[in-house]
Amino acid sequence: MPLVKVNELLQDATQNHYGVPAVNCINVETARYTVEAAEQEHMPVIVQFWPGFKDYVPLRSIAGAARYFAENASVPVAVHQDHSWTYQIAVEGIRDGFPSVMVDGSSLPYEQNVALVKSVVDVADVFGVDIEAELGHVGNGSNAEDFATSDFYTKPELAAEFVERTGCGSLAIAVGNAHGPYVKVPHLDFERIQQCREAVGVPLVMHGCSDIPPEQLQRAVNLGMSKFNIATEYFRALYRSLEKDIKSGEHDGDGVKLLLGVGDDCRAFVREKIQMLNPNHYSM
Ligand SMILES: [Zn+2]
Repeated sequence: MPLVKVNELLQDATQNHYGVPAVNCINVETARYTVEAAEQEHMPVIVQFWPGFKDYVPLRSIAGAARYFAENASVPVAVHQDHSWTYQIAVEGIRDGFPSVMVDGSSLPYEQNVALVKSVVDVADVFGVDIEAELGHVGNGSNAEDFATSDFYTKPELAAEFVERTGCGSLAIAVGNAHGPYVKVPHLDFERIQQCREAVGVPLVMHGCSDIPPEQLQRAVNLGMSKFNIATEYFRALYRSLEKDIKSGEHDGDGVKLLLGVGDDCRAFVREKIQMLNPNHYSM
């Protein structure tokens, strides 16, 4: 199956009321397990990488590996570069072969965010690359003020203008979600999700989905959100799997078997997320 465009995948998800997990991967193994999980579930998935890992793995090589898995998958798989916090990082992502890139100007003043995203979209259009942007600011789960107060939330009345002026293909919104572990249980602002959904025509993205109660994410799916970023919980599943294996002593002294042994747990984790984000039991 050919690699699919993120935006086409998300538009299908929006129309058919399912969510697509966008799983943050760090290497070939975590990307492969993510794609295999999607194949087992007969549902699409997005494999994404954070450019801050570029010193750990060359982004060009990991983009190529992810595209290889996508092109050979039996289900639609899309590949995406996550949080590109400067113009240069976003354009490097396009150069390195990511068919979709997020440019994150959400910490900037509104007009600067608009200008940054527009400038990246102008380049991306030349190469047919999808661009995700963020309006409002998704902060850190370790700081309750980042997600429990609405100061940083997306303003629906600005969202339509933002999408129109920037030409972004999808929009990440801040609605009570945050990155990393949460210091207390988040409560998503469903009214705001609905208002954002009504305000813009492009797919909506939720960052920081780890540890948000499943029923809240399912409600967000039914309100029309379609991309759900998951990093922290996947990394935790990876850690727990390695920890379990080391404690068992089953592969004592064999690093290769240890690394290959985490596949079952990683696939099981991603499969559970795919099921959870498909509350209406859509199947491909
Ligand atoms: Zn994020």
